[in-house]
Amino acid sequence: MIFVFDIGGTMTKYGIYENSEMCYELIEHNEFPSMANQGGRIMIDHLFKAVEELSINYNLTGISISSAGQIHPFSGEVIFATDNIPGYSGMNLKKMFESRFAVPVAVENDVNCFLLGEYSTRNLSGDVLGLTLGTGIGGAVMTRGELLRGSTFSAGEIGHIQLVREGLPCTCGYNGCFEQYASTKALKTRVELEMSIDDLKIFFQRCKENDSAALSLLDQWIDDLTDGIKSLIHVLNPEKVIIGGAIAAQGAYLEAAIEKKLKQKIMSSFAKELQIIVSENGNTNNLNGALVHWIQSYPNMS
Ligand SMILES: [Zn+2]
Repeated sequence: MIFVFDIGGTMTKYGIYENSEMCYELIEHNEFPSMANQGGRIMIDHLFKAVEELSINYNLTGISISSAGQIHPFSGEVIFATDNIPGYSGMNLKKMFESRFAVPVAVENDVNCFLLGEYSTRNLSGDVLGLTLGTGIGGAVMTRGELLRGSTFSAGEIGHIQLVREGLPCTCGYNGCFEQYASTKALKTRVELEMSIDDLKIFFQRCKENDSAALSLLDQWIDDLTDGIKSLIHVLNPEKVIIGGAIAAQGAYLEAAIEKKLKQKIMSSFAKELQIIVSENGNTNNLNGALVHWIQSYPNMS
């Protein structure tokens, strides 16, 4: 059985995959608190315990990890992580788990796992851009079945493309980054401030009831979001843009709003084949993608 973990800032999801007749089946999945704010070392000790407990019922043959941060997809090292997980940068997860459990381990960035999961579940083959909207904005690019990784395995930090000169301060140390305007957190902050609504589900309900204040805020946010995506489309010329994160629960409503505005902003040659997809596979998508990364890392064992 392959044990797969998706480490998030708040919760860690896990899935147990059974290999039967050349395919993998997810037979159990759940989540537990990450304890990320207590630091990388305590968080990993917590994960070790989870593996030990799951090993009581399942025969462990491999581990795959999807994690926040810039991850070296072959060595399994955390190249860089923000202070959301103190002390995480520089830790080598692959080495740590392999020396503890003596099974093959694979580690990959969580947004890359998101796109790997979407790509394999939807059986895609072309050029696809993935975005995850949350506290920040994550990005991943797949071109002809291969992830774009970059020279230091850090490609896809699209949350930090410039949207506004001398704009809002950002966690990266600069100002005016895309994610300060178009992340889910940015929308939530504006909705709280201007409408005193602290739940985005209620906000979207207001939008669907044609509340003019809600629609105006949504329009501004979609405008910021599509400004950033527009630049990326003109660089990458993808055939699909897949958007994930908890906000994807808004499904077709969000999809239509993004697609309408985006197609007004891009050159017609880029719009012809373009499809915007809001992913609704939230809970298991990163797990599926991390499994794909494990299978690609150990082709002779799958
Ligand atoms: Zn930034």
